[in-house]
Amino acid sequence: MTTMQRVYKFGGGVASPDVTEGDASMNYILGGKGANLAEMCRIGLPVPPGFTITCQTCVEYDEAGNNWPDGALDEIEAATRDLEARMGKRLGDAEDPLLVSVRSGAPFSMPGMMDTVLNLGLNDESVMGLIAQTDNPHFAWDSYRRFIQMFSNVVLGIDADLFENAIAERRLIAGVRTDAELSDEDLRDLVDEFKEIFAREVDASAYPELVVDGTVTFPADPRLQLRLAIQAVFGSWMNERACIYRQRNRISDDLGTAVNVQVMVFGNKGETSATGVAFTRDPACGARGTYGDFLVNAQGEDVVAGIRNTEPISDLANVPGLEEAAAELDRVFGILEGHYRDMCDIEFTIEQGKLWMLQTRAGKRTAAAALRIAIDMVEEGLISRDEALMRIDPSQLDQLLHPQFDTSAAVDVLARGLNASPGAAVGEIVFSSDDAVAVHEAGRPAILVRWETNPDDLKGMVAAEGILTSHGGKTSHAAVIARGMGTPCVCGVESFRIDAAAKEVHVLGTDIVLHEGDVISIDGGQGIVVAGAVPLVKPELTGDLDTVLSWADDVRLDESDGRGYHVRVNADNPEDAELALEFGAEAIGLCRTEHMFLGDRKQIIQSFILSDDADVRAKALEDLLAVQTEDFVTMLRTMTGRAMVIRLIDPPLHEFLDDPRELAVEIARKEALGRDVSDARERLRLIDGMVESNPMLGLRGVRLSIVYADLPLMQVRAVASAAARLKLEGFDPRPEIMIPLVSITEEHVQTRAVAERVIMDVEAEYGVKLDIPIGTMIELPRACLVADEIAAHADFFCFGTNDLTQTTFGFSRDDAEAKFLPAYLHEKVLASNPFETVDPAVLQLVKMAVDKGRAVTPEMHFGVCGEHGGDPMSIVDFFNTAGVDYVSCSPYRVPLARLAAARAKLTCAL
Ligand code: ADP
Ligand code: MG
Ligand code: MG
Repeated sequence: MTTMQRVYKFGGGVASPDVTEGDASMNYILGGKGANLAEMCRIGLPVPPGFTITCQTCVEYDEAGNNWPDGALDEIEAATRDLEARMGKRLGDAEDPLLVSVRSGAPFSMPGMMDTVLNLGLNDESVMGLIAQTDNPHFAWDSYRRFIQMFSNVVLGIDADLFENAIAERRLIAGVRTDAELSDEDLRDLVDEFKEIFAREVDASAYPELVVDGTVTFPADPRLQLRLAIQAVFGSWMNERACIYRQRNRISDDLGTAVNVQVMVFGNKGETSATGVAFTRDPACGARGTYGDFLVNAQGEDVVAGIRNTEPISDLANVPGLEEAAAELDRVFGILEGHYRDMCDIEFTIEQGKLWMLQTRAGKRTAAAALRIAIDMVEEGLISRDEALMRIDPSQLDQLLHPQFDTSAAVDVLARGLNASPGAAVGEIVFSSDDAVAVHEAGRPAILVRWETNPDDLKGMVAAEGILTSHGGKTSHAAVIARGMGTPCVCGVESFRIDAAAKEVHVLGTDIVLHEGDVISIDGGQGIVVAGAVPLVKPELTGDLDTVLSWADDVRLDESDGRGYHVRVNADNPEDAELALEFGAEAIGLCRTEHMFLGDRKQIIQSFILSDDADVRAKALEDLLAVQTEDFVTMLRTMTGRAMVIRLIDPPLHEFLDDPRELAVEIARKEALGRDVSDARERLRLIDGMVESNPMLGLRGVRLSIVYADLPLMQVRAVASAAARLKLEGFDPRPEIMIPLVSITEEHVQTRAVAERVIMDVEAEYGVKLDIPIGTMIELPRACLVADEIAAHADFFCFGTNDLTQTTFGFSRDDAEAKFLPAYLHEKVLASNPFETVDPAVLQLVKMAVDKGRAVTPEMHFGVCGEHGGDPMSIVDFFNTAGVDYVSCSPYRVPLARLAAARAKLTCAL
């Protein structure tokens, strides 16, 4: 049996050289935090020593129903002893105690999991040792009370307010304003009081190991403190918040989290101590130059919690006693960027003038910053263009295509805050996450307005169009999460006095009071808040985005390795086509013709469908021909020189008819008024006659063209005559006709024959030669199975992966998403929604059809025009696994698809 190493050491110690075992590549074993702590040790940065317990240990612990795998506890005990030896101190020692932090750290940075426990190892004896060593009873007692408070809240889930209230009461009794003014005795009394709260709140039956002499007791044994804290981290991997976050970010539940046990350093040891967070470049806009916040005489979470107002990192060098540490930090910034060749996010603590690095990772950034940083780093020679492309997450580009305030509209700024996450949003004020979810579910946009957010707010933050906080900074929870999700966010709107209980906001300096449901607009790029709804505009593709996308085009269109990865657009009208050209689409991959029958044209198609009278039907067809021809003329003119795949009519015809239920109500109403309803009754009879019990699998797609032979005649004629007219005008129209929902080869063959006859007619009529490819939309499993047969008669295949997913699974999309997909995802029957990211089995069908088609006709081309064509992960699969030539997606997804296609090609070349 091979034994797996479960614990990895990092750093050295006062009595030890560096003994680091891990490195940055061990993300999946040590988690991001652990891997990078090890890496920082390796490159000689000052890191408090410690050890990391692997993610695999967490997985085994969770899988065994919260039971420790054999040997794991022994290994942890050995590592603890080793750490004690390295430091020359022992946990719980009454003379000179070792204190540690217990920190979670998954392979991906993951808010939502357990918080960190600091100062672990304190008890009634070791606090005396800490006093003896520091000669600072205030610091020691404060550390002890913080430890009990954190341990109780984080490890045992006891309400943090119970402790905060106790402190507030103590301040009142002592007659002081701040915690810092509490006396040593006050703090010692608080420790006792906290222990009582602990004893009261913990359920003895759930924690038998905490029962001493029949009552629950705060654990004095540091080994027990440590084991409980580690168990809590492992348990937090599967808590609801963490699961929601992972699902949203498509992170597997099987990874587990690591636990880092690390020697404490103290940022709260007086005026030459501090703690802070920083980025090596601005995470909002990408500008060069460090960026971050710090607090003097504070510990860890104080910075992010927004309890005290932080100072900007640029001021660190001006604090007396911190000058040297500031210079050292600057040097470390340079080392880290040079080493990681990326923008780094850093946590540090300065203990009495000495700098300690507590964390680093590639910093989260807005899309705008990602582009700026990538371009700058290419210029600086740090990375290549290909690397730059691999650094930018395609789905993030969406942010840049977010709406902005229409600058032509004059806005009255109601309040200002920090520009925490770009984009503008308009919505109703809500004061709680539950209300945000409720308003969102009612189909209305909500702006979540909070003092500050915490991980429990995640649901509401997902549901909200925008987020506003009155307190936090740019590195606060709200800001970090909003940037990650691409949700507009304005933080630190200090003039908002929020009363969440009364559901109102008083705007300082005005007599304005905002209530729940009032509409406000926020611009997270500018950090402004406006009362009422500001008109929004969509931005253009310019500057950095354009630069990066042109690099992407160079990569994806390079045919030296065999084939280019092309991007087309799904566009049904000239406006969409024009927008898509601006966004860099090469051609139209799908033009749905049925949308052209809606609006005031509904009447015409209705009379065609419902009339028995041949003349009426003929007239309707003639009218349809006229309007369709005009539609195609405009679109083909816009797309001159570029392919445009036009799909013949696809949906069930009843979609063009009145709703029979509404019509029945109408009849009843008219009858009650004594009106004549005979026409309406006849109409209802005809509509009822068209009703199918399962329209998705009914008379639609190519089946319509076979049953109503006039329809394809009319549509192909419209396409061909539009092309002929444009040719005569000197344009270069390139329509391609696509036959939808084919499952039987003969369906395609017959429809193709009809189309070819019509094209020949039109050619003769206009005296021009037309070259119109005719292809098949492959969206049924049977078509994939007989793709070689169909290929003999088709010029191209385009995969309709929405229907292919529906029919492969036997799911109807709307029913699935409304009724059972959420449960499937929750119960992990499915890992992801197959309508968002292509399912492997569906992908296999696509690949099979491509292979069969290519074997028969090597010069055939293949595309994907389902919504998956705009999903970055699916795009990689379509190109690299299925071997298609293009993906086609909605206009706003085109920029994202260009980048995703380039990345697909780069990963394929690896
Ligand atoms: P998160 O993943 O939520 O950022 P961390 O494990 O990084 O949690 O801990 C949060 C903060 O706690 C750190 O930024 C740091 O300031 C403080 N901290 C953690 N470990 C130590 C330590 N060993 N010494 C001093 N401060 C620490
Ligand atoms: Mg951290
Ligand atoms: Mg379809």
